[in-house]
Amino acid sequence: MAPDVKQGRAAASDAADTSASLDPVNWDQFREIAHGLLDDMIAHIETIRQRPVWQRPTDEARERFTRPLPNEPRDLDDVLDDVRTHIMPFATGNLHPSFMGWVHGAGTPIGMVAEIVAGGLNMNCGGRDHAGLAVEQQIVRWMSEALGYPDGASGLFLTGSSMANFAALTIAKTEALGQSVRETGLRNCDRELVAYTSAEAHSCIAQAMQLSGIGSANLRTIAVDDAGRMLPDTLRAAIEQDRAEGFLPFLVVGTAGTVNTGAIDPLAEIAEIASRESLWFHVDGAIGALAVLSGSLRELFKGIERSASVALDFHKWGQVPYDAGFLLVRDGDAHKRAFAQPAAYLQRADRGLAAGETWPCDLGPDLSRGFRALKTWMTIEALGTDRIGGSIAHTCMLARHLAERLERHPEFQLKAPVALNIVCFGIRGANSEFVRTLVSDLQESGLAAPSWTTLNGELVVRCAIVNHRTTVADIDSFVGTLDRYLDDRAAEGNA
Ligand SMILES: *Cc1c(COP(=O)(O)O)cnc(C)c1O
Repeated sequence: MAPDVKQGRAAASDAADTSASLDPVNWDQFREIAHGLLDDMIAHIETIRQRPVWQRPTDEARERFTRPLPNEPRDLDDVLDDVRTHIMPFATGNLHPSFMGWVHGAGTPIGMVAEIVAGGLNMNCGGRDHAGLAVEQQIVRWMSEALGYPDGASGLFLTGSSMANFAALTIAKTEALGQSVRETGLRNCDRELVAYTSAEAHSCIAQAMQLSGIGSANLRTIAVDDAGRMLPDTLRAAIEQDRAEGFLPFLVVGTAGTVNTGAIDPLAEIAEIASRESLWFHVDGAIGALAVLSGSLRELFKGIERSASVALDFHKWGQVPYDAGFLLVRDGDAHKRAFAQPAAYLQRADRGLAAGETWPCDLGPDLSRGFRALKTWMTIEALGTDRIGGSIAHTCMLARHLAERLERHPEFQLKAPVALNIVCFGIRGANSEFVRTLVSDLQESGLAAPSWTTLNGELVVRCAIVNHRTTVADIDSFVGTLDRYLDDRAAEGNA
């Protein structure tokens, strides 16, 4: 280091007392408050069972967030009082073992601590040469290994699978039409692009088609079998018909764990069709892809290793705190071709902070981005894939247990096969109104939080068991709660 650089550093520290710094005036006091908050959050997670699954934010709590923009500072202790009083009791509920609504991960204390580190370091993981990018690359290699991808695969953290699916569709589109489509848009394309997915695919696939400019009218929703899996013969026929009519098929999206019922499309057969037809084969593995970490479930996803890209969510079954969506792409060059954008202020160097050939900002639409890789890395590193895979398999066992209990019960009726961790059921003789009321009543009771969905035109109760804290006893107590609810309603009816 040149001597004048060192001198410069000394001069900078002399200037510190005239600063407009936003750091604490009293670090000791800050430290004490921060430690107290950490203790509170650890206790919050540790004692989560003792509280209602969910409660509606009170009017007072909502009111607290309608104030004008503050000009003056306030004591951090006071601000944290607001957090404790008006936010913490009114969270989503997904930490609680009886939360079964939608597909929500529960997080872990390790992930929470990782967020402190990530927030403290405040790294911008869009690019430049620092450890954050190395950690993200570690996750890319781990996911390649877990999903059977080759070296050279590329990957990226995004908010969630909605964005990861959109990014994959963008890559597929660029590969189908060539990189010039990035400049011309679709206007120079003589044939209309069409994509394929199942009728049970997540709505974000249609939205990705809308955002891409292709339009969701050009998304063919292929029929499914009784278990909610795409029918390969119908897919073949649809591609053939589209080709005959002059369309340009470019993409097929298979789902590894559908949002309604957890169904897994026949991935190997779809891979075969995609390969023969030269289509980009993307897998929406938002729910299911991480199940490959479980030795007992892995086999169900055969064929995923032949895909061109996979979207997955560490914030669901991976139990990493929100948000941690991820995209893995087999052909790293194709990935870069879709997004890399030259810019004077993003020029690379062969040394210094601007070193590195490919930065994450070359692989997706985000430039500034946080350090999502850290909470994922710390979670996997501290727990190991055996424990994470084990907790995934455990939720599937719980789903089967719930399904068995419901099947044996005279009042309930399973509405879909249980492929993974999602159980959909109805109440014999009940209409949609009853189902709707039951689900809302249970949520408001604070005892359990199932959700609902519509299957074959019928509203059904849906339990997605994602939480690593849920036990057999929780499932039994949920069935007990349902029982009591039906008894009470029957008693009301007879009164
Ligand atoms: C949750 C989910 C998505 C959307 O993922 P986000 O992380 O919520 O954006 C997409 N597909 C499936 C199958 C999902 O379950």
